[in-house]
Amino acid sequence: MKVAFIGLGNMGLPMALNLLKAGYQVTGFDLVQAQLDIFSKTGGIPAQNTSEAVQGAKVIISMLPASRHVEGLYLGDRGLLSFAQADALIIDCSTISPKVSQDLAAQAKAKGLAMIDAPVSGGTAGAQAGTLTFMVGGNVQDVEKARPLLEKMGKNIFHAGSNGSGQTVKVCNNMLLGIQMLGTSEALRLGIANGMDPKVLSDIMTKSSGSNWALELYNPCPGVMESVPSSKGYAGGFGVDLMLKDLGLAVENAQGLEAYIPLGKVAHDLYKAHSKAGNGELDFSSVFNLKAN
Ligand code: NAD
Repeated sequence: MKVAFIGLGNMGLPMALNLLKAGYQVTGFDLVQAQLDIFSKTGGIPAQNTSEAVQGAKVIISMLPASRHVEGLYLGDRGLLSFAQADALIIDCSTISPKVSQDLAAQAKAKGLAMIDAPVSGGTAGAQAGTLTFMVGGNVQDVEKARPLLEKMGKNIFHAGSNGSGQTVKVCNNMLLGIQMLGTSEALRLGIANGMDPKVLSDIMTKSSGSNWALELYNPCPGVMESVPSSKGYAGGFGVDLMLKDLGLAVENAQGLEAYIPLGKVAHDLYKAHSKAGNGELDFSSVFNLKAN
């Protein structure tokens, strides 16, 4: 089956490679030539643009940074919705606003196209290992149609509800993750300032009530864990600016609904300050180095 994959960045590239490994014929497109080159060297078919990539594709997957990129890709006279094959299933895996996602699905439906939102959790390591968690929003038939393909890229495929609900779950999850990373960093900084070895401190807290995902699998203090971004100069991984975007989505979403999320707002402000200090491209665990101004 022919699959089109648009957006071959930190996440999209390894996800597309897992589809190739599973035997799908994958045509990919990215604005960055270097990403396309890696994709084609590993067996993918590079396209010159989106319309070339989606020609004849039964499934179209997008993995772009934010709402504005996804709207730009899908809408308008030269947007994907205007030239996708009539029976194609569209799967947007980007993390974007739940409202934008709902609107796009409605516009796709008006053109007779099926669309689901399927944002992911698990980071670049999960994307490479094919162990991502997918949070899927859409009607049950479309979700079941997508499932065999999603299973080639992920371990847990959850149907969250109707269109946009995958994004709602993702926004809630990432708000919690952003807060958790800040809290974990604070606890480690306090212990280190008291003379504690961060590895000893982390090992004990991992087996105590403060344990959490950041502490167990993504320690933000350099040298505590191998192969995590903090031990590689905070390179790769999940960028500060992407976390800032997700916290922005949470704050915006809460305003519309009047949900009380004071910690989400503080987290948004802290990541914003960290980004402004020139760290936007680093992995989000670099908030470990956040300093008072
Ligand atoms: P990235 O910036 O590494 O990759 C995005 C890619 O999209 C880039 O290569 C860019 O050139 C490409 N792109 C943008 N507009 C395009 C267009 N119109 N046509 C073709 N290509 C286009 O970002 P990423 O880390 O891969 O994240 C992608 C999405 O996944 C984001 O929404 C992010 O929030 C989410 N996410 C990321 C992680 C992570 O750990 N990196 C984890 C979970 C979810």
